[in-house]
Amino acid sequence: MLNWQSSAFTKVKEFTFYLQRFSFNSLELKEKMVPHLLYMFNDLFGVRNFDKDSLIRFFFTVRKNYRGVPYHNWKHGFCVAHSMYVIIKESPCVFNNLEKLALFIGALCHDMDYRVTTNQFPLESDSPLVDLYSTDSYPESHFSMIVQLLQEELTMTACDISASAKPWKIHVEYVNEVMEEFYKQKRELERLQYH
Ligand SMILES: [Zn+2]
Repeated sequence: MLNWQSSAFTKVKEFTFYLQRFSFNSLELKEKMVPHLLYMFNDLFGVRNFDKDSLIRFFFTVRKNYRGVPYHNWKHGFCVAHSMYVIIKESPCVFNNLEKLALFIGALCHDMDYRVTTNQFPLESDSPLVDLYSTDSYPESHFSMIVQLLQEELTMTACDISASAKPWKIHVEYVNEVMEEFYKQKRELERLQYH
């Protein structure tokens, strides 16, 4: 288990320059995302007021609760959290500490448990989940309460779609993942409707 003193975290300190740039390509991190999250969290909030082991467990739990879908997966959660980190760093007098904490954690968690469906999919496929989540946007319904508490709406949305403003090479990688997710949904809808 990764811990606060591990070399994975120590090494991250060497890459702060890259982390603080919006153009940073988080797709290359692969298994190193949790140490980088720890670095960003420590940089923004310090860790003296937090139980470090609980913090590490929390990040791993968030990772585990993202599904293995093509786009709205753990990598997307990390990318949005990283964009929020850059915005917070570049806006030193805009947010208070509680707002910063809410924005960063909200960005990291905002698509947890996302399935390969848009809001329309449950309606078009007669999913029983429509009854369960009839009053809210289905994919994000699990977190509507958290989002209401945590998100600063415009900033959160800007981070959520921030991959489209990344350098072209990174942008294309994200676009391919989004397209794969849409096609996967289309195939699933056809399977449910015609078989
Ligand atoms: Zn998202």
